[in-house]
Amino acid sequence: MLPTEAYKWHCLEEQFFKLCRSYNFQEIRTPIFEDAELFVRSVGEDSDVVKKEMYRFVDKGGREVALRPEGTAGGVRAFLEHGYQNMPQPIKLYYYGPMFRYDRPQSGRQRQFYQMGIELFGTQDPLSDVEVIKFTANFFSGLGFENLELRLNSVGCQSCRPSYQEALQGFIRDKGELLCRECRKRSHSNPLRVLDCKVETCREALTDIPYIDQHLCPDCRAHYSAVQEHLVQQELSFQHDPLLVRGLDYYTRTAFEFISTHLGAQNSLGGGGRYDDLVELCGGPSLPGVGMAVGVERILLAMEKEGLLPEEPAPSGVFVALRNKEAVGWAQRVLYDLRKIGFRAEMDYMERGLKAQMKQANRGRFRFVLIVGGEEALGDGMVLRDMVSGEQKELSYEDAVQHLTGAQPMVRRERQ
Ligand SMILES: [Zn+2]
Ligand SMILES: [Zn+2]
Repeated sequence: MLPTEAYKWHCLEEQFFKLCRSYNFQEIRTPIFEDAELFVRSVGEDSDVVKKEMYRFVDKGGREVALRPEGTAGGVRAFLEHGYQNMPQPIKLYYYGPMFRYDRPQSGRQRQFYQMGIELFGTQDPLSDVEVIKFTANFFSGLGFENLELRLNSVGCQSCRPSYQEALQGFIRDKGELLCRECRKRSHSNPLRVLDCKVETCREALTDIPYIDQHLCPDCRAHYSAVQEHLVQQELSFQHDPLLVRGLDYYTRTAFEFISTHLGAQNSLGGGGRYDDLVELCGGPSLPGVGMAVGVERILLAMEKEGLLPEEPAPSGVFVALRNKEAVGWAQRVLYDLRKIGFRAEMDYMERGLKAQMKQANRGRFRFVLIVGGEEALGDGMVLRDMVSGEQKELSYEDAVQHLTGAQPMVRRERQ
């Protein structure tokens, strides 16, 4: 990512960090690599992620390690190592960082990609599912997305999924040769994977596949309808999608995805779900959780397609320009003073003439130029030029600062 791209990432990052703060999620940073076994146990031995996409290698100490293919398992590992399971619940965490999956690189899908995610541990309350979904909806609407579709499903729990898996196994047997080899092979280990097989013939064969709806146990059914009721109360429209299972084995009950249908193409921008068995799978106690993750590159691509990205960052800050070399000491004081009070500020170090400095300020996308020195601006006086309106004023330094702080709020970092 080069500087010309960075401001686009900042749009996303600022929106995410701002929401994490207002929803009261706290940051966790985990290592980029973990014991490979952690992902095998949590994401699932039979998932595409672990089987085909995970970077896995033996280090010099003979340990089998993996570059993290997703963010949740590492968070759970750290959480357990530091006794968070014994603290008052719920625990609300967020993360942001690179993930790694070996796949054919294509636009919006790199082998090193960035994910942002939140996790809410310790409660099965449907309100916590709704909070995570609402967060995701707020995140996308804050970025300017207007017509995303929210797809929702319940993937059941340990007590009701086996009966659905049996129904799927029966279905796979009936379809026989119509399904790809992989799907037939998975019939015993993990028949749910048939639902997200990308092979065309499998997609076609899915038209009369049994749905999980009829197999949900009373608890899962009640949980799912409570989630739906709260979503309606929150005026979040959704579509029940019985084929939505998500690619990771650890999901239970709620699964959701936000789909962009721009220009007819369907594109998942992110989603999540409940994972009530994950903490246990990672060696901890039985502790429920729900979360979501979104991919930065994929969202940026969608924002670009939908015209939601500004072509350039908005002009901001102050360029301190010199009318003559004698004023350099004064200009330096002004420069550092502006920085100290929170402005993005810059000056010329290449001995350029005034005209060239104005060009430099323009190129650097500065909103204001403060011209220091020269006969008409003796002593304390200086000229403040608004590069957007073209307006220009002769002011004392104090008045200039007052004008600047009024015209433009001081730059505050949104990050904690
Ligand atoms: Zn159930
Ligand atoms: Zn298949």
